[in-house]
Amino acid sequence: MARVCPICGAKVLEERRGEYIFEWPEGSAAQQSGFADAVWEACDACGEEILSPELSDRIEAEQYRIQGLLSPAEVRAVRERTGLSQVEMARLLGVGDKSYARWEVGLSVQNKSMDNLIRLAAEHPGLFAELEAQREPDREEQVAAYIEHLPTLKAQDELAMAAHGELPSADAVRKIRRRLQALLREREESEDAGAA
Ligand SMILES: [Zn+2]
Repeated sequence: MARVCPICGAKVLEERRGEYIFEWPEGSAAQQSGFADAVWEACDACGEEILSPELSDRIEAEQYRIQGLLSPAEVRAVRERTGLSQVEMARLLGVGDKSYARWEVGLSVQNKSMDNLIRLAAEHPGLFAELEAQREPDREEQVAAYIEHLPTLKAQDELAMAAHGELPSADAVRKIRRRLQALLREREESEDAGAA
């Protein structure tokens, strides 16, 4: 049954199902994208289209993908995997904590260099801690504690990153874990050697 169109007032708003074709604004990396099995409403009188929240979310995720950027959910997944708070992550990236928080909810978009840094954090969870330690040698103890803590963090969680083929695979996660385990063994061995 048709509903009243909120734009023109005609009672001809009908539900549509199928592939939704979205035209990207001029200057985008792609001209258009098709979204299969989509649900939306269309007005035959004025041409207005009202997208379901699910379809809007898919279009937003695709927009990040064609720009080569992590989506807000992916940015958050990377941070959660490193075990850092939003404020800590912002400090390590060298941006304001409000700016960073906006990326996680899609209120603003990280630039490409920040996106690269976040991807590096995903591949090498201890990287920022190591850089901090180089700048502030006094903090080595804290850094060691952070690295020791890493294997118990959420590294085993499946990441919500299915859209990005190049993002950390299970294999990459296993490599990171092996590297951390090796670091921990080295530490234990040096402690044992020190105690003896
Ligand atoms: Zn209308």
